[in-house]
Amino acid sequence: MKLETKCLHEGYEPKNGESRALPIYQSTTFKYNSTEQVAKLFDLTESGFFYSRLANPTVDAVEKKLASLEGGVGAILTSSGQAANMLALLNILGSGDHFISSASIYGGTFNLFAVTLKKLGIEVTFIDNDASDDEIRAAFKPNTKAVFGETISNPTIAIFDIERFAKVAHEKGVPLIVDNTFATPVLCRPIEFGADIVTHSTTKYLDGHALQVGGAIVDSGKFDWANGNYPEMTEPDESYHGVVYTKDFGAAAYITKARVQLMRDMGVCQSAMGAFLINQGMETLPIRMERHCKNADVVAHFLNEQDKVEAVSYPTLEGDAYADMAKKYLPDGCSGVIAFTLKGGREAGIRFIDSLKLISLVVHVADIRTCVLHPASSTHRQMSDEQLSAAGIAPGLIRLSVGLENVDDIIEDIKQALENV
Ligand SMILES: *Cc1c(COP(=O)(O)O)cnc(C)c1O
Repeated sequence: MKLETKCLHEGYEPKNGESRALPIYQSTTFKYNSTEQVAKLFDLTESGFFYSRLANPTVDAVEKKLASLEGGVGAILTSSGQAANMLALLNILGSGDHFISSASIYGGTFNLFAVTLKKLGIEVTFIDNDASDDEIRAAFKPNTKAVFGETISNPTIAIFDIERFAKVAHEKGVPLIVDNTFATPVLCRPIEFGADIVTHSTTKYLDGHALQVGGAIVDSGKFDWANGNYPEMTEPDESYHGVVYTKDFGAAAYITKARVQLMRDMGVCQSAMGAFLINQGMETLPIRMERHCKNADVVAHFLNEQDKVEAVSYPTLEGDAYADMAKKYLPDGCSGVIAFTLKGGREAGIRFIDSLKLISLVVHVADIRTCVLHPASSTHRQMSDEQLSAAGIAPGLIRLSVGLENVDDIIEDIKQALENV
């Protein structure tokens, strides 16, 4: 099946006389006839649903669909994008370990890495999103266990050179984790460029309708966890009577461990109803992404011509720093998200946002309705000015998430708001 068809048909196939729409299995638990069978489920020698923290048929269908769209061997849905990135790392790092991250990432992820993982004894080194191969190599330490970046960074719209970062990471025997939230598998499939693990905030385009907070991890199944750097993958897990993930689960070692260890212990699961809503969004994802990209391209060009606008970041603009990379990684479009600054900085930005009528100020992005946000005073307000500038976020930066309204109406609203600046 091609991608558009997978979005509609992958993961759930009704049998004769069954529900056409994905059923919502609104149940915490599942019934069995013998203690022997339940024991096998707990030993992981048989698979089946038994408790919705670990697996649920509605959630499972959406996990299968997303894994297929990204070209992975398996996926888990999580309660949020934050939970996805946290588990993606905790699955292979522990106290005393280190990882490398692009500095151009979502503010919440930055906080997770710099503050909360640090408290757990996991150290991060942030490097420039455009670091050279040698600069990436120089950030490695003997205890480095992963490299992380975002396909299209939130909010600066920097593109991550997945293939190059993957090459250096693999040279060093560690996996590349890519947060593919803004691109979605419609615009970019990081595994095709060498990423080993892909994460998502499904809250954004996958859902797309601002209904359900959620996240996901997809495993490419390609990384060699038995290379000596990941003993938890190759040594017996006593909490499952000595299961060895690489031996017992082969290519699905990573994603199986994430589910049966971390989801079991931390409980950051998606609900059946939540998965249903995410699936509802995913069914129309390709057609929505096409229009988001088309509208954003028109709006970016409009902004670029306005006297009051200082700079616009959108990779389809001529001269954009990422124009060439976009041709490689995002040939079908660069999502609906645009970053721009007004002359007059922070104050002008605030006056602009407060003057908008159709476009709404929300702490959200990648919605069907056009929305806007000022990162320095909201999502990234915990960052110092130095951290902001390292991440490429000017104090006056505005993140505009172009929706599916008629583009003339979007531009009309921007025009009238600019007149008030
Ligand atoms: C929003 C976002 C997250 C966090 O996801 P939540 O679902 O809000 O927890 C992570 N990464 C990126 C790129 C995001 O845009």
